Amino acid sequence: MRTTDVESMDAMRLHARGQTLTLDKVARPTPQANQVLLQVLACGVCRTDLHLLDGELPGIRYPITPGHEIVGRVVERGGEVVGLDIGTRVGVPWLAQTCGMCRYCHAGLENLCERACFTGYTIDGGYAQFATADARYCLALPARYSDVEVAPLLCAGLIGYRAYRAGGDAANLGLYGFGAAAHLLAQVARAEGRRIFAFTRAGDVETQRFARTLGAVWAGGSDEAPPEELDAAIIFAAVGALVPAALQAIRKGGRVVCAGIHMSDIPAFPYDLLWGERCVCSVANLTRADGRRFMEIANKLDLRPSVETFDLSAASVALDRLRRGQLTGAAVLDLRSS
Ligand SMILES: [Zn+2]
Ligand SMILES: [Zn+2]
Repeated sequence: MRTTDVESMDAMRLHARGQTLTLDKVARPTPQANQVLLQVLACGVCRTDLHLLDGELPGIRYPITPGHEIVGRVVERGGEVVGLDIGTRVGVPWLAQTCGMCRYCHAGLENLCERACFTGYTIDGGYAQFATADARYCLALPARYSDVEVAPLLCAGLIGYRAYRAGGDAANLGLYGFGAAAHLLAQVARAEGRRIFAFTRAGDVETQRFARTLGAVWAGGSDEAPPEELDAAIIFAAVGALVPAALQAIRKGGRVVCAGIHMSDIPAFPYDLLWGERCVCSVANLTRADGRRFMEIANKLDLRPSVETFDLSAASVALDRLRRGQLTGAAVLDLRSS
């Protein structure tokens, strides 16, 4: 396909809260001065996409194309783009743009920028044949990974890694929700000599088995108590009731890190669970430095993403399987033949 001749493209778009995505024929976007136009090769499917579908994120403007784990090839460049040649493979993560001027940007916390734009949420994402992205926020990708393998590193991996660091120097680490992020983090943790305790939906023996194959010393339901006290826990599942459950499982001075963008309400719990300098925090978005650092780590440790691929037109099937907890590892849209 001579991509430069194509003026329209297929995109899976969301038109209203709670609807399913529709396959639309839309105009191919034109890159602005700082943007590149990418032919999308693969795009990861993330839990955040479900929150977008369900209208659980504020200020969604419809129609919107989801997808913030984009692996694409540069096919066109805006006039001010430097350093990204035509044909280069790049990754586009959740953080699409920041203002560079607010107190958070000045403090090196661009993940908290007051006026940030987010891929596949405030601007169109990668559930499409083409996407535009600000070249300054694109990430170089390790060559050792195929297009579909590298996609889940772009959110599950790198925001997961931000949560992992927020958990501190934990020897015994609990992971609540063992999906795209946890299966990558478990590999990092194991390489660093930590012990992983994997919590899944009650009765999900298949995912528990998967966690053990990745080196978890224990795997069980999130309604179970781990056999040992944990030093920290990361909650990837969007279930607020896991916060008191995780607090109950950690030692004094331990941390519970909430890694998702949305969670159901956290039920009331006795102060005893927080007492003893236990701490609950959240992790929001990513910085470009996070992205660069995690890609280096993934390259060095040779992380093995476990992916299940879907055609672009089957995005809703992938999202539905994610919602039902029927995936092993990460779902990725494979657009290489489209
Ligand atoms: Zn994500
Ligand atoms: Zn800012």
